Amino acid sequence: MCGIVGYVGEKQALSVVVEGLRRLEYRGYDSAGVAVVADGLLDTRKKAGKLANLESLLGTDPLPQSTIGIGHTRWATHGGPTDANAHPHVSEDGKVAVIHNGIIENFAELRAELTSAGVTLSSETDTEVVAHLLAAVLPETDHDLAEAMRRVCRRLSGAFTLVAVHSDIPDVVVGARRNSPLVVGRGDGENFLASDVAAFIAHTRFATELGQDQVVELRRDEVVVTTFDGDPAEVTEYEVTWDASAAEKGGYETFMAKEIAEQPKAVSDTLLGRIGTDGRLKLDEMRLTDAELREVDKVVVIACGTAYHSGMVAKYAIEHWTRIPTEVELASEFRYRDPVVGPRTLVIAISQSGETMDTIMALRFAREQGAKVLAICNTQGSTIPRESDAVVYTYAGPEVAVASTKAFLTQIVACYLVALYVAQVRGNKYGDEIAAVVRELQDMPRKVDLVLDTTEEMKRIADELKDSPSVLFIGRHVGFPLALEGALKLEELAYMPAEGFAAGELK
Ligand code: GLU
Repeated sequence: MCGIVGYVGEKQALSVVVEGLRRLEYRGYDSAGVAVVADGLLDTRKKAGKLANLESLLGTDPLPQSTIGIGHTRWATHGGPTDANAHPHVSEDGKVAVIHNGIIENFAELRAELTSAGVTLSSETDTEVVAHLLAAVLPETDHDLAEAMRRVCRRLSGAFTLVAVHSDIPDVVVGARRNSPLVVGRGDGENFLASDVAAFIAHTRFATELGQDQVVELRRDEVVVTTFDGDPAEVTEYEVTWDASAAEKGGYETFMAKEIAEQPKAVSDTLLGRIGTDGRLKLDEMRLTDAELREVDKVVVIACGTAYHSGMVAKYAIEHWTRIPTEVELASEFRYRDPVVGPRTLVIAISQSGETMDTIMALRFAREQGAKVLAICNTQGSTIPRESDAVVYTYAGPEVAVASTKAFLTQIVACYLVALYVAQVRGNKYGDEIAAVVRELQDMPRKVDLVLDTTEEMKRIADELKDSPSVLFIGRHVGFPLALEGALKLEELAYMPAEGFAAGELK
């Protein structure tokens, strides 16, 4: 999801790393941190909020000079955006520092294993387990950090880019990747690791793209890439021709194009870790008992704009799978009229940012009436999830473009998960029926890819339509909210009059 930078060379690592993080700022983040190794000691600084907060901490509490360092900007997925949860995370002996982008799906089992081995964890993140696991296996590898990383990665499931340094191995930065980006920048007497080339193109344009399930060992004059099993790996080397602004957008013309392309990953990340080892669906934060969910006699979905359209899909799913009457309402309308909500109403608040003011006010109103609130949100620790009784996060990563794409799609996935979860608790559906729907959802990234393959055809159609005085989008069933969303997108982006229409009404 957010930003990773690693450096080993001759320059002051801290300034290279902080400058790299600055160039990755466009990816969005909620906290930042750095680690350096100097004189056989590891030192870290981290801070919630903007990079400027980290820089002012570094001003009052400077790090020693060093030519090896790592840096991270975090977009929280597990644990709120606090100083303690910011990366790097460090092992108990203070020797290994780890930064991570993505989600470690089996972190709960690994945490339990570490805790019973007597390790004290000091954050709520999924990441911290990696620091402790690396420290534990390192002695078995003859102090080979890359080998330790390979062993640890073989135990992880999910999506991750990991980068680590160790105070006893002061000339090596190790990285690993699965389902999450990591690029090597090859310099002269210096090498870089980063989530994308934007972080280092001020220093070098020679890059090496790592493949899936690979570990890289970076020294000043050497880059060694292996598979997770330790075999030599095939990598792609290339020269970056983009300028800094194109690099930020991953070579796409706009952030929105980039985010459209990120949709398959956003969907698969949103599905990660949702099925427990007992085969049952899990929500991220549940402060509602099964008994309370069984009591629910009405669902009201509140949202604004694009999220309102995903709410309409939620209505179809919830009524279909749970038979609970469901209404969808614009948050701005809900709070200004006198809606019928009470202790047996479940209100579902959907918001990408978690800060949509009308939705916040509507959820407060609903809670005052005794209703329970479940949030669907893309931003950890934001107001809407904080004030709700239950939360399902979407793992779309930060969305920079104003017109929502990947966040919308993941909201629909989350709505389906919520509907299935309620059906599971109330016994409306058998476990195997729920599992069958989840399997179909898991096939969705592949199907989204097929749609994305039609981009050229879409461009041709857009060209044909561009001078039309207005455009009608039509659809039936869940196609109807999608028609509304399509019309909204066209209006937002092209300022063309557009309308979404239920196909049956066109007659
Ligand atoms: N899952 C990790 C966390 O919540 C990493 C998040 C990220 O990709 O920035 O700390």
